[in-house]
Amino acid sequence: MNEPATRVLHADAGIEDSPDIAPPLHLSTTYARDADGEAGSHVYRRDHHLTSERLEKVLGELEGGTALVYPSGMGAIAAVLRSLNPARVCLPDDVYHGTRHLVTVETELGRWEQTDLYELEPGDVWWVESPSNPKCLITDIAATVAAARDRGVKVVVDSTFATPILQQPLQLGADAVVHATTKFINGHSDAMGGMAVTNDDTLVERMRSLRVADGSLMGNLEAWLTLRGVRTLPLRVERQSSSAEAIADVLVRDPRVTKVWYPGLADHPLHDVAASQMSGYGGMLSFEVDSFEAANAVLARLKLFRVATSLGGVESLAEHRRRVDDHAPEGLIRLSVGLESPTDLFADLDRALGTQDGGQEKKGAIRSPR
Ligand code: PLP
Repeated sequence: MNEPATRVLHADAGIEDSPDIAPPLHLSTTYARDADGEAGSHVYRRDHHLTSERLEKVLGELEGGTALVYPSGMGAIAAVLRSLNPARVCLPDDVYHGTRHLVTVETELGRWEQTDLYELEPGDVWWVESPSNPKCLITDIAATVAAARDRGVKVVVDSTFATPILQQPLQLGADAVVHATTKFINGHSDAMGGMAVTNDDTLVERMRSLRVADGSLMGNLEAWLTLRGVRTLPLRVERQSSSAEAIADVLVRDPRVTKVWYPGLADHPLHDVAASQMSGYGGMLSFEVDSFEAANAVLARLKLFRVATSLGGVESLAEHRRRVDDHAPEGLIRLSVGLESPTDLFADLDRALGTQDGGQEKKGAIRSPR
């Protein structure tokens, strides 16, 4: 079972003794003890449930470690950080705004300090997000790990944009990997979740214990939906990545667009690093137009791309990122490329880009992919 396409379908075989081909949905919050009062393998739903165990097996096999699942991506991020319990955390400049918010709140509460790279000391955490949200910036994971090791610093990688199909940070030496499974892993915009994966047994035990203590195991229904979603992850990611690559390639030549952020483009600052640590560039890209108002006008004209936050689903989404993230450039539009025909997506973007002054639409600047 070496190929991810096989692992997503069969890695959980044997966990549940059932003739069902599709996993059964369990809603019970408690499990019966035997006639002697002895507990079986399952006692209470806050501690564990069969569907999350199946999901964790699949996700662990995909990422190459032991996986634990949480009710949201932020839940997984908070769990890793709390379990590592650093004195200092260093965040990259471009990072999911929720992660920045969490680190800021916890800093205010005195749990740790947010610091710069050069201030990190043994036991601290160097947070990496690659590709990053929303600028799709790349961090050289192996180089970061090498620099961190020398200083006894832990490296955690948020690999949500890449998915385990395109990038495997544990193999590059990272101490832990997190994903918002809400995004590509579930892939259908209908179940929130998060996962953390590591090969550090002490960290696994601490995280398991904390998860029982603070009641942060992913719910039954979400685990079931995510297990169903992950079965098609390799296929979806392949298509989303090739469509995003084609869209970036056309946008970068469009005079109405001032900047395109996509690691697959040759002029991306760390394109070579992306090419060596990823097996594809992913379904996320951002581009910029002249101003906040111009971005508004583009979004108002989109028909196929739905204007909404979130990403990684089967349907394409566009978001004016400045509305939620005050670190994002004013005219930045983030695209999550779905499974629609790329030709239809081009046509939608071409119409929406118009002239950007709200006047006559300018047609034909976006050509079909080469
Ligand atoms: N990490 C990244 C890179 C994200 O983009 C997000 C959400 O957009 C999260 C983490 C948080 O995930 P969730 O919304 O499931 O908490």
